[in-house]
Amino acid sequence: MNDPVLHLSQRLEALAPYIGNTPLWPLRRAYARPGVAIHAKLEWQQLGGSVKARAAYRMLREAIQTGAYQPGQTLLDSTSGNTGIALAMLAAQIGIPITLIMPEDASVERKRILAALGVEMCYTPAELSSDEVFAFAQDMHARNPDRFCYLNQYDNSANWQAHYHGTAREIYEQTQGQVTHLATGLGTCGTFVGTGRRLREWNAGIQLVALHPDVKDNGIKGWKHLDSSRHPAIYDPQLADAHLKVTTEEAHFWMKQAARKEGLLLSPSAGAALAGAVKLADRLERGVVVTVFPDDASKYGALLQSLFT
Ligand code: PMP
Repeated sequence: MNDPVLHLSQRLEALAPYIGNTPLWPLRRAYARPGVAIHAKLEWQQLGGSVKARAAYRMLREAIQTGAYQPGQTLLDSTSGNTGIALAMLAAQIGIPITLIMPEDASVERKRILAALGVEMCYTPAELSSDEVFAFAQDMHARNPDRFCYLNQYDNSANWQAHYHGTAREIYEQTQGQVTHLATGLGTCGTFVGTGRRLREWNAGIQLVALHPDVKDNGIKGWKHLDSSRHPAIYDPQLADAHLKVTTEEAHFWMKQAARKEGLLLSPSAGAALAGAVKLADRLERGVVVTVFPDDASKYGALLQSLFT
């Protein structure tokens, strides 16, 4: 095949069946109250093992189709891990190089996975804030604009559109349109903004509840403390009907509950999502609350050991 862009597009298209279409898990024992149900999307059941497969796929597809990515360039983004892993798997599949910027205190599992996938890693000092890591990525791109195609997941509308076209439809269909509340955590905000926007269009009565970490220095990897940091351009402050805060202790408590009562091994941000969904459900007389479990516990070995032994 002579057209390199068409070639990349076709290779990427072939991966579409492995992105999204995750099961919706009805909580049975960890939360059981008559009239109120909690359901969670098991987002680790797709390529790369996290919710970020959706955004990574769509951002990359758009970059290739619009010409923002030129054959020969290296993909670039900053990541707390999951976007990087998803992008690295896609990049390996279609045969393009990738450089990722990640804080050096990321878990050993993440580092091993990214090394195995052949990513060129650039580690930033652990003491840098997420905004400083973001600025580092911007600067790296500015200094090498031709070498890199910078995806910038925080400001890239393909991120939220992945959920607008995918996650929302799945939730609506899987609940037979019965969903009454969406409660998800905010990182880049793609999941909440994209899913919330679409559900709202289908049913204006659906309540959208944004979940936040209670403090800046929390243990919920993947969540952003918006009060103290730069708001991603894709964040829409008008969207949420309500905001709830979750503590790291609550996230850990619900990780344990999910393990012991549902047989689900959750990541901290999935535990935090469950904590937030439960807080919301406790206030309702009736309802179907849907949340999103971004990934499972497999990349958080040290925490799992300290929580369960
Ligand atoms: N939890 C984890 C573990 C994540 O990796 C992410 C993505 N950074 C999120 C939650 C938040 O998802 P989003 O970026 O769509 O807001």
